[in-house]
Amino acid sequence: MTDMSPWSKNFLSKANPKSVASCILSGIWLDYIWETYLCFRQFSLTRSAKEMPRNIAEITTPEIYTLSRLYHMDQMKLGFAKDLFALTVSTAIIRHGILAKVWALSERITPFRGEIGTTWMWSVIFTTGSTFIYLPFTLYETFVLENKYGFNNIPFEIFLTDIIITLIFLHILNLPAYAVFISLVKLSGDKVGLVLWLLSTLALLGLTATFPTLIDPMDGSFTPLPEGKLKDDIEQLARTVGFPLGGIYIKDSSQRTSHANAYFAGMFGSKRIVLYDTLLTICTPNEILAILCHEFGHWKHKHIAARIVAFQIYLILTISMYSWTYRWPTLYQAMGFPIGVEPVLIGLMVLTSLVMVPINSIATCLLNTLSRHQEYQADQFAVQFGKANDLIGALKQLHKGNLADLVYDPLYVSWYHSHPPIAERIEALRQK
Ligand SMILES: [Zn+2]
Repeated sequence: MTDMSPWSKNFLSKANPKSVASCILSGIWLDYIWETYLCFRQFSLTRSAKEMPRNIAEITTPEIYTLSRLYHMDQMKLGFAKDLFALTVSTAIIRHGILAKVWALSERITPFRGEIGTTWMWSVIFTTGSTFIYLPFTLYETFVLENKYGFNNIPFEIFLTDIIITLIFLHILNLPAYAVFISLVKLSGDKVGLVLWLLSTLALLGLTATFPTLIDPMDGSFTPLPEGKLKDDIEQLARTVGFPLGGIYIKDSSQRTSHANAYFAGMFGSKRIVLYDTLLTICTPNEILAILCHEFGHWKHKHIAARIVAFQIYLILTISMYSWTYRWPTLYQAMGFPIGVEPVLIGLMVLTSLVMVPINSIATCLLNTLSRHQEYQADQFAVQFGKANDLIGALKQLHKGNLADLVYDPLYVSWYHSHPPIAERIEALRQK
């Protein structure tokens, strides 16, 4: 986006491929050590907290508390194995120049000539390969872990078909997307940052505008909420807070998962409310109204706009880094590419999924901090409309269904959690 300072230009031209590779690898390792340390803190706290803490007693029963602990310990054990595996894969990719080797292979076997065709073939091999090497973890999580705790409702055939269909669609859509991206980068020259920013912002706006009415209901799982007291009450509440209600829908989610939720969508003018059918079965009508009042709080405080601004800052940082590095030969050589081979899309992938690992991690932590603050604000909005007790009831119900973790290491929460711990939310709701 912005022009580079002479200092950074000088720095980039002097760096050698070996030290650049080591630098990227150090960032990935440092991030791994830090995140594993945080997970280890949370894991040991969960393991040792066999006695149910006093503030948890009203939220759940000792049986569910124990189940929640065991569920999270199982999840974290899987997480430790998966993270270590991912670290090994990233290290091997950098140390053995695997990206460049796959590139050379793609060049030989691609049906379409040129950088666009080779990039597409490269992505077919890479995406399919990584889906399958991580498949044992996904299978274990879905069919062993989630099954053990009664969360998984998805049959194996649907699971496998979902993966294959997603991959096929992805590969078909990738070809024109890559063609547009690569041609744009090549044509934009020095204006590449500005062009990419405009394009991604337009795409994001388009997606946000069409998501609630076109994309989200595409799987046919939406039905309007039937006429009745609940619908009347929701409309009444929307009128009271001034929410521009455009429709209330139930999303059939129990087919695939039993985690419960509700949200609103729509950019300008009227907005749709979507309730997961699982929410309707576990919460009372008053509790559902309290959850919606919390959602209205997000709308009233313009939380989506704040998230968009935060995301724009991250987007501008990423695009600026890309415009500084996409024509930087040393970066490609550090990944094992021969001199003169600088495929622009691979440059973007190297930047976002290897170079920026520590930055992405810090950005996620900052976004989570913003999100936790917004959750407290939305809760307080529900309190203003006299919904504190119903919201407490709803939170307890949602917790039971979700087996959300109950013991928290504060450092772990501040890094990873987008929502404040349930016990702290209840306490804050009671204080007002
Ligand atoms: Zn919320």
